[in-house]
Amino acid sequence: MRDSSRLLKLLGLPGSVSAGAQAAAAEFPVLVPHSFLFRMRRGDPDDPLLRQVLALEEEQLESAGFGDDPVGDDLARQAPGMLQKYRGRVLLITTGACAVHCRYCFRRHFPYSEAPHRPADWQPALDRIAADPTIQEVILSGGDPLVLADDRLAALWGRLEQIAHLRRVRLHTRLPIVLPARVTSELLSLLTTSRLQPVVVVHSNHARELVADCAEALLRLSRAGGIMVFNQAVLLQGVNDTVTALEELSESLLRLGVIPYYLHQLDKVRGGAHFEVAVSRGLQLVEALRGRLPGYAIPRYVQEVAGESSKQPLFESDRLS
Ligand SMILES: *Cc1c(COP(=O)(O)O)cnc(C)c1O
Ligand code: SF4
Repeated sequence: MRDSSRLLKLLGLPGSVSAGAQAAAAEFPVLVPHSFLFRMRRGDPDDPLLRQVLALEEEQLESAGFGDDPVGDDLARQAPGMLQKYRGRVLLITTGACAVHCRYCFRRHFPYSEAPHRPADWQPALDRIAADPTIQEVILSGGDPLVLADDRLAALWGRLEQIAHLRRVRLHTRLPIVLPARVTSELLSLLTTSRLQPVVVVHSNHARELVADCAEALLRLSRAGGIMVFNQAVLLQGVNDTVTALEELSESLLRLGVIPYYLHQLDKVRGGAHFEVAVSRGLQLVEALRGRLPGYAIPRYVQEVAGESSKQPLFESDRLS
């Protein structure tokens, strides 16, 4: 679904779209798979799933400190399609495409056209990884790496397997959440038959995403054997900025065998300011979770700061440990 007005009408809402919202969608198109749409509540303009994908005129407001490259990706570029910010792990931009367009996405202005398109384009990045024995983990990111067809993914994976010092491959993907049919048995067999340890980090922000076909897909992943499955969420105004929403998200993830990993403070991307939750509020929320959930169910509340050697913990006891 690529049309705001049709999306609204399908949900039983007035289909009128303001000129500002149309301009926002012209810059970063609306894109929502049907599976995700079917999990939205009809007739609710504040539905937390809808809010993540609906272009709004607020995106057109300029906000101080919000820019096109909020996390310093440009400076971290080491080879075409390869970013390194942290010791021991590198990130590959495998594609610019996603199955969904999240309005708060920190890479919504990323210059994807410069990333590799053909298999041969990966050679400089692979050469760099092969030449640096401190790199133990490769993160396939994007865009969304699971937008790649299985044969493309398997081909890249196979080349990584040949680099002897690599131990893990991590997928950063939202496809199991928004397009669960992508979790095929072919994909599971690629992940579970490799010499490289597979880690899958999905991206869900609300418990109501984790139902029906999505719940089944996450169970297939977490029960496939040997795959570590984590979730990262972004703290988003009007989506998950309550204790109840965060508690239910953690509970739903655990039920499906997924460990809450990170709760990200919003990256200050131009067009995303209306999603921002103050850090002081985020700290209150995480403190409240501490009183309600086992330690392993509490995500680390972090912020990405350009130039730092890791994601920066915001919660005090995470900082001290
Ligand atoms: C976020 C990120 C990682 C992963 O960080 P972890 O703390 O290991 O999850 C790796 N590389 C880049 C460039 C990143 O932005
Ligand atoms: S799936 Fe990830 S990369 Fe794609 S639009 Fe959403 S947040 Fe951005």
